[in-house]
Amino acid sequence: MAPFSVSANNGSTNPRTLIHELGHLAMGLEDEYMGVNLNGNYCTEARHSGPAGDFSAFGIRAACIMDSQFQSSKYCSSHKDSAHRAGTWQPGPCWGTVHDSYGDPGPGGRLARGSSSKTAG
Ligand SMILES: [Zn+2]
Ligand SMILES: [Zn+2]
Ligand SMILES: [Zn+2]
Repeated sequence: MAPFSVSANNGSTNPRTLIHELGHLAMGLEDEYMGVNLNGNYCTEARHSGPAGDFSAFGIRAACIMDSQFQSSKYCSSHKDSAHRAGTWQPGPCWGTVHDSYGDPGPGGRLARGSSSKTAG
């Protein structure tokens, strides 16, 4: 892989490639155009073989950037309309991996409760 090379066969200077590579480097995501599926590796079914529309290739809700950053504008999730497809190198939905790494700690987090609600103690 040689992102941003203008001479390598698989190089690209397209800004969309930056988003794909950011997925690897900052989000810890794996490629979804490679994997163990015998009939081809891709994510998602909606983009690959679904009906035309927002979730199909080049649609505004097509996923996933880690499969084809040129046909997709989003990372995949577990959402039923455009769910992650198993068997690619990415072990689960990309948004699941991002959430695991960067998710909000929630109501138990240190800063979740303001001092104004605290009455005693
Ligand atoms: Zn990649
Ligand atoms: Zn993905
Ligand atoms: Zn996926």
